[in-house]
Amino acid sequence: MTTENGTILKVAHLKKYFPVRQGLLQRLSGYVKAVDDVSFEIREGETLGLVGESGCGKTTTARAILQLDPPTAGSVQLKEQELVGQAPRTLRALRTQMQIIFQNPYSSLNPRMTIGRILTEPMLVHGIATDRKDAEARAVDLLQRVGLSPYFVNRFPAEFSGGQRQRVGIARALSLNPYFVVCDEPISSLDVSIQAQIVNLLRRLQREMNLTFLFISHDLSMVRYISDRTAVMYLGKIVESGESSTVLSKPLHPYTQALWSAAPIADPELEERRERIILTGDVPSPLNPPEGCNFSTRCPRAMPICHEGEPEFRELAPGHWAACYLY
Ligand code: SF4
Repeated sequence: MTTENGTILKVAHLKKYFPVRQGLLQRLSGYVKAVDDVSFEIREGETLGLVGESGCGKTTTARAILQLDPPTAGSVQLKEQELVGQAPRTLRALRTQMQIIFQNPYSSLNPRMTIGRILTEPMLVHGIATDRKDAEARAVDLLQRVGLSPYFVNRFPAEFSGGQRQRVGIARALSLNPYFVVCDEPISSLDVSIQAQIVNLLRRLQREMNLTFLFISHDLSMVRYISDRTAVMYLGKIVESGESSTVLSKPLHPYTQALWSAAPIADPELEERRERIILTGDVPSPLNPPEGCNFSTRCPRAMPICHEGEPEFRELAPGHWAACYLY
């Protein structure tokens, strides 16, 4: 069952603040606003790309959505079922519907477990498989779906390459029959030659299993390739969102423009012609964000008003949203 307009995930005003304590008495001195009032929706079968530099809050957003780290405030609805504030028992049942593929396939698989056990254990714990035999048959099917030999069930993660381990990580995420999957930088630790294979595998599995993805990455070219829509994050906030083809070819927000100007392009002629925007300064500390627009300390187009108040996140063209005083 999906909602009337086909929405699978609805995130509204999500916040994740981490308290900062100082001194001998560990007095509260402030909050790191890692995720600060983030809202978006993802429709059934769609991929939303979430991009931004490392430390901008992408992974914290994903962990708060999945309730791996409970949010400070806001709402997360999976097919209209509120996740925030649910009892652990309810969340445990809902976890089969939402899964995550981790960035690092080396640390995310238990080295002491065979691939067969890695895949069958969750199915047995969550009652997805009726018995061990059923779980083993499902594990073999999953291995084949992700392009691995069924004979790998008796082998250990250390015997595999990075790409093969990530395929196992994908099979494990799918072992509970989820319909919503967070792909958290799933290719960034892999060789470039393997990255396209894994992304194409994810696209095929999405079609075959009707999956809905939140695809987190700092690689704009990859996000443009895999995502239907893109949201750009800076210092805990979404600063621009819309159809990927629009956001990443005609970006409106100066931050997206700078990110896109630095992304590698396969076409050497285009690469030669395009103008590079070099951002100066470091990303400010989320403990002490700038006054006004949070990009104002690095923005090449900043105006006096940008330091005064926060620009509203507005729909500037149908489906294309940005928070910037230039428009
Ligand atoms: Fe730059 Fe001002 Fe727009 Fe912020 S509001 S992105 S500082 S122009």
